[in-house]
Amino acid sequence: MIRQKYPLTWHKENFSIRIFCSIPNVATGILLAADKNLFVVDPGDGILRDLNKEIGTGKILSISDIFVTHGHHDHVGGVWALLTYMRVMNKRTPLTIHYPHGCVEIESIHNAFISVYSATLPYELKLNEIIEPKSFKSKGVLVRPFPVMHKEYLHDGKTTRQVPALGYKFTFKRKKICYGGDTAYCDDLVKQAKNSDLAVIEAGHEDDTPDDMHMTMTEAKRIGKSAKDYFLVHVPE
Ligand SMILES: [Zn+2]
Repeated sequence: MIRQKYPLTWHKENFSIRIFCSIPNVATGILLAADKNLFVVDPGDGILRDLNKEIGTGKILSISDIFVTHGHHDHVGGVWALLTYMRVMNKRTPLTIHYPHGCVEIESIHNAFISVYSATLPYELKLNEIIEPKSFKSKGVLVRPFPVMHKEYLHDGKTTRQVPALGYKFTFKRKKICYGGDTAYCDDLVKQAKNSDLAVIEAGHEDDTPDDMHMTMTEAKRIGKSAKDYFLVHVPE
């Protein structure tokens, strides 16, 4: 097993990504910066602590978008902390959460947050449920969501079901970062990662037998190598 040393950082000109953490079943936390615009991707537990340490309150309040790949707790556990921190610290600019169609975790967190704080919320909170994975722009960054394959076990430990799950490709001034989130090997990821300036690819599978949940190290490296540069994340420790 490869033990990753977080944070992982990559930047080209004014486009950068900082992966604070990506540990299966514990937490993910990613900051994306394009010029002065800041975005968070998959805010798992600990994201507020990491952002506070790295960029401080003023910049946290300027974050305009949160991109969620899927609703598993290690990818959304820090959403409540971010939303409430921004309220307490008096954020004034809007915040949009982008998430895959059917991701009830984000909708439930949002609804609970609004029911508690709507009367005292200093910023506008918007949801963008991505039904059709079409490209859109936010703050000069072209965002291309794409479907990925990520299943989970039900209580019997045998039956599986597909989780609402997306990867995202971010393009800024012709530089491309592709992040697959949690995914098994799938054609959309292969296509989007190819020739990206950076591919962030999960290698979350414990052994070398391919399945429908995560990628093996061999699969992840194959996709990573089709990009100009790559990080393997979500590697079991
Ligand atoms: Zn997952």
